[in-house]
Amino acid sequence: MSHIVLIGGGHAHLGILRSLRKKNIIHKVTLISPSPFQYYSGMFSGFTEGIYTEDDIRVNVQLLCQEANVQFIEDTIEQIDPQTKKVMGQKGSYSFDLVSFNIGSTSKAFDTNKIKPNFHFTKEISIFRASERPVIIGGGAAGIELALSTLAWRRRHNEENPVILISSTPILSTYGEKASKRITDVARKKGLLIYENQRVKEVASTYILTDKEEIIPYSHVLPLTGPTGHELFKSCSSSHDFLPVTSYLQHPTYPYIFGAGDCIEIEDNPTLPKNGVYAVRQGSVLWDNMNHYLENKPLNTFTPQKQFLSILSTGDKEGLFVYGSFSFHGRIAWKLKHYIDQKFMEKHKL
Ligand SMILES: Cc1cc2nc3c(=O)[nH]c(=O)nc-3n(C[C@H](O)[C@H](O)[C@H](O)COP(=O)(O)OP(=O)(O)OC[C@H]3O[C@@H](n4cnc5c(N)ncnc54)[C@H](O)[C@@H]3O)c2cc1C
Repeated sequence: MSHIVLIGGGHAHLGILRSLRKKNIIHKVTLISPSPFQYYSGMFSGFTEGIYTEDDIRVNVQLLCQEANVQFIEDTIEQIDPQTKKVMGQKGSYSFDLVSFNIGSTSKAFDTNKIKPNFHFTKEISIFRASERPVIIGGGAAGIELALSTLAWRRRHNEENPVILISSTPILSTYGEKASKRITDVARKKGLLIYENQRVKEVASTYILTDKEEIIPYSHVLPLTGPTGHELFKSCSSSHDFLPVTSYLQHPTYPYIFGAGDCIEIEDNPTLPKNGVYAVRQGSVLWDNMNHYLENKPLNTFTPQKQFLSILSTGDKEGLFVYGSFSFHGRIAWKLKHYIDQKFMEKHKL
């Protein structure tokens, strides 16, 4: 019997736990994560706005583990020794025959409030949305969603000062010109204060300075400037903080190390966007490949879909629907997002 250790309760590992509920497994499986709960980022905007409660947006990973006959250990892994096949956490060290990482990304941009790992989210955002002058840095999907949902919450709670969004590019620029223009119009109409095409140079104690010499006073700042990796991968990655894997989701040098989601970089697809959609899809390939590896069977390739549907909540139960170059804004988009998110959560509730 081999010992498979799953690090992190990310989307791919949740899928594995779900499938294990119906199976008899011959191996010992352990999951290590810093919290018994996994928070679902697709519903972060709804929590911020006050539509969902904390319980609505989280999955009880510890319970899922119990149901799946998987040992759950609450710990944060800080190091890996690929030679001796050990991972070291804050509370102990753990041996494995096979290990898989699905620990998401970090944000190293500024030394300010952070919502990663994602179990910090509800506490951090509750302070942020009620603060005197909230500022979000980052004009990608996550930054826009949280800026607009904070704005909606503040309007309902009669908070006077606006929400500020600083972006080094036009907002949502990676989604194409049409979607970017559409969301900019929506955001401005709703009263979001946007500083576009400005890079943050300094976050001082009471103000933010941009490269256009703009001085923006703030009380709380939330950096959402895109995913960065984990220091812990330094021992098995020569050039960066992401875990290098092949399209089998397997480490190129240490074949007993696997990974999925935001924390990996696929060698022949390094620019694959980091989002929950791919992390979910990787789950079944990951589990099959780990078992095939132990059974000396050929591994399967993870082939990402070319396009994916994105629905951004824009506050007040409205949303922006984007698929390829097609986009529209309105209540139907939000309803569809709500439906998809509820379905996702139902799959994980016991
Ligand atoms: C506001 C916001 C909204 C978003 N909305 C969407 C959306 O609608 N759709 C979408 O596809 N993507 C969305 N994203 C992006 C999405 O959150 C990430 O791409 C996705 O969560 C990555 O999934 P993952 O499975 O890699 O890891 P995560 O979901 O981040 O899970 C990582 C897990 O690992 C654990 N962990 C972390 N560090 C350690 C450690 N050192 N040791 C052990 N365990 C650890 C964490 O506690 C957590 O359980 C959004 C992001 C944000 C910030």
